[in-house]
Amino acid sequence: MYIYDIDDLLVEMAKKDIRHFSPYFLCQYIKDCNIEQITDYLLSLVNKNLIVYYEVQCPNEHSDYVVKDPHDIVMEPRECQVCGEDYIPDPSNIWVAFDFMPSFVEHVKKNKSRTYTTLKPRQMIHVR
Ligand SMILES: [Zn+2]
Repeated sequence: MYIYDIDDLLVEMAKKDIRHFSPYFLCQYIKDCNIEQITDYLLSLVNKNLIVYYEVQCPNEHSDYVVKDPHDIVMEPRECQVCGEDYIPDPSNIWVAFDFMPSFVEHVKKNKSRTYTTLKPRQMIHVR
């Protein structure tokens, strides 16, 4: 798994307007994917290219609600908005998901037409 494969994939996804994705989504397209590494890398891009959010699931695997900060999850009994079952949020049933920052999508789309015709290799500077 190479970090630049993830970077390339993120650019393609942003161009195609793919939103609200999980690390598992990226994993399908990455050779030798490691889900922990990919999650860590995506988390390192939060507030640069990405927005993170946390989905709380009920015991029946419904996405009950979403928060931006895991500290906002209250471990108290509540009712699932989808199935109505009473449950207490379980840390192992909280899923991390990402979205692109609007500025990143804008940048990627603008970049399509940009060319670097004046770009030249830099001359090496001799180090004494
Ligand atoms: Zn439910």
